[in-house]
Amino acid sequence: MTALKPGVVTGKDYLALVKACKDGKYALPAVNVTGTNTVNAVMEAAAKNKADIIIQLSNGGAEFYAGKGMSDSFQAKVLGAVSAAQHVHLLAEQYGICVVLHTDHANKKLVPWVEALLTHGEAYYKAHGKPLFTSHMIDLSEEPLQENIEISARILERAAKIDMCIEIELGCTGGEEDGVGSDEIDNAKLYTQPEDVLQAYDVLSKIGNFSVAASFGNVHGVYKPGNVQLRPDILKNSQALVQKERSLSPNPLDLVFHGGSGSEKDKIAESLNYGVFKMNIDTDTQFAFAESVGAYVEKNMTAFKHQIDPASGKPYKKEYDPRAWLREGEKGIVNRLNEAFADLKSAGKSLAQGSANSKAA
Ligand SMILES: [Zn+2]
Repeated sequence: MTALKPGVVTGKDYLALVKACKDGKYALPAVNVTGTNTVNAVMEAAAKNKADIIIQLSNGGAEFYAGKGMSDSFQAKVLGAVSAAQHVHLLAEQYGICVVLHTDHANKKLVPWVEALLTHGEAYYKAHGKPLFTSHMIDLSEEPLQENIEISARILERAAKIDMCIEIELGCTGGEEDGVGSDEIDNAKLYTQPEDVLQAYDVLSKIGNFSVAASFGNVHGVYKPGNVQLRPDILKNSQALVQKERSLSPNPLDLVFHGGSGSEKDKIAESLNYGVFKMNIDTDTQFAFAESVGAYVEKNMTAFKHQIDPASGKPYKKEYDPRAWLREGEKGIVNRLNEAFADLKSAGKSLAQGSANSKAA
């Protein structure tokens, strides 16, 4: 079995991790984070499950990480992502697992954000011999296919030089996430065309490594079931076409499942057969955090209104201490991710070896 050094994985190590997922027919949850509470909860969940994990930031998540009070919102999006990445680089090894660092959806407007992050990545690479992020996503699925592929190719040229990969999106995933996407797309567009995937493969595979978020009826966010139908066979068809046309081994593409929150379990399981190594989870962990904090607040309502109980005189310092209720939110995320690792069959599959944890075990 492949053994990797615990911590942030990039370059060849990342590709080995992706290959292990696809060969073993399991996938890693890719969880959107917004601050140290969510980052640490995700690493805690991965460590508890002896699983590797993908930590990702949307532009909005990165901005929040830097602080909503920062006046330059573009700089906040850039530096918040850099700050989160540095936090993970510093701590991931201590959790004894492998962490993939990724940025989420960047549409055409946000290409300059990705480019600014590449500038930081290049400086980091010069200093440390590895990139800051494992990969960036460029989502130009709302643009014409040719333009999508062209811009993605330009970004990949630059990323590949510092051992980075990219993720692209073909076809429109429905729903709403951070202002990207819309629920007014017609249903036919919700399914990626295998011919489009082949075109992207022909251009990008010559430049570097890339993964594809394919649309097979998935939606961002959680909606009432029944509006769209999940069709994992779309993934199968894309893999089959690229394999056949370019004489490759089975499942040549590295596929990503967007909008994993609230998806039917049997469809998740089926998609693992077709080269899906990553499933994005955002909405469900947001709710898990909120629900747990909400329950705590409900139970300790007086402590959120009075420092000292007006009737009994009991001091509430312990109860209103942010560490008490933020910890409840973290535990909520850990619980939700226990379920995700089970759904994606990745519990117990960490490739990390030689860590303080594994030596102790
Ligand atoms: Zn997407």
